[in-house]
Amino acid sequence: MSSLREKLLLTIYREFEEWIDRNSLSCACHNGCATCCTQKVTMTAVEGDLIHRFVNEKGRHVWFAEKLKAAKSSLPPMETTNEFAARCLSGEDGFDQYGNDKASVCPYLEENSCQIYSVRPFACRSFASEKKCLPGQAAQLPQYYVSAATAAQQLIEHIGQGEYWGNMHDVLLALCDLKENSVSGDLLPSYSLADQARARLRKAKPLPGFLIGEEDFERVSPLIQAVFHTKIDDKNVEDILNGK
Ligand code: SF4
Repeated sequence: MSSLREKLLLTIYREFEEWIDRNSLSCACHNGCATCCTQKVTMTAVEGDLIHRFVNEKGRHVWFAEKLKAAKSSLPPMETTNEFAARCLSGEDGFDQYGNDKASVCPYLEENSCQIYSVRPFACRSFASEKKCLPGQAAQLPQYYVSAATAAQQLIEHIGQGEYWGNMHDVLLALCDLKENSVSGDLLPSYSLADQARARLRKAKPLPGFLIGEEDFERVSPLIQAVFHTKIDDKNVEDILNGK
């Protein structure tokens, strides 16, 4: 049975997709295009739990352990999305999370197809571009889309507050020593890999406020309201997120 945090996560995934449909974003992305599938993907533990469960249900432990062993660790992000938001909202400048770190191809990409597509984290779900991306070039998106994706990221981090937050590879490794993931964990050369990953991770933080500029508010607000007014187990998501 899905946990409450997982139901909240899936609500945000669904509402974000519906919001995209309502806003008719003209997207150049198509099946088989994977220019943006690099290891610069951050996520929370609740998203990592979904991926581990997918692997457990499919019995793909050997395949998964090989991916975990082979993936190179990217530079860990210096702050979470909500830490970044808290600094911006208090008037401080932001900084480049990754510096000049070169992104290598995501290990879950095989023949230009994501092997964990149904459970890919939100960062992957929000990859999009209005123009075809060329290698090394940034995606082109309207600012309101970036604001909406950031708001959704912030909510997902809020759900997982106190839990692991960081590069996808590190979160997945760190979760290997949970009992339910022990089949994958036992296939790693040593559990010190999980310890090293844990040292690179941060803790997810609560929402300090949204980073939405006035000019984007009208378009982004319906997404937040749709999430807040969804009912889970007879309670509004907004109340659940506020701990009521
Ligand atoms: S998890 Fe899937 S969608 Fe995300 S970067 Fe890797 S291959 Fe691409």
